[in-house]
Amino acid sequence: MKKKKKKLRRHQSRHHIIPSSRGGDSRLENIAKVQIKGHQFYHALFSNQTPDEIVEYLVNTYWNGQWDHVKRAYDQRYKK
Ligand SMILES: [Zn+2]
Repeated sequence: MKKKKKKLRRHQSRHHIIPSSRGGDSRLENIAKVQIKGHQFYHALFSNQTPDEIVEYLVNTYWNGQWDHVKRAYDQRYKK
């Protein structure tokens, strides 16, 4: 059975979390509804990088390769 795509509001677009050009599919788990303007900024900044590649870039470029900061921030935010 084919899943129905959720309707977008006027200023929204669909963002592939793993880009389709990188093998990402169009299942709901890989799609985020985002504001069109923010979507343009996202791709201007990160092109078609995957989330893992973006985090790796940020850690290595701005956080001196200190992954413990990322882990601590993740734990504080999502593990309660
Ligand atoms: Zn996108």
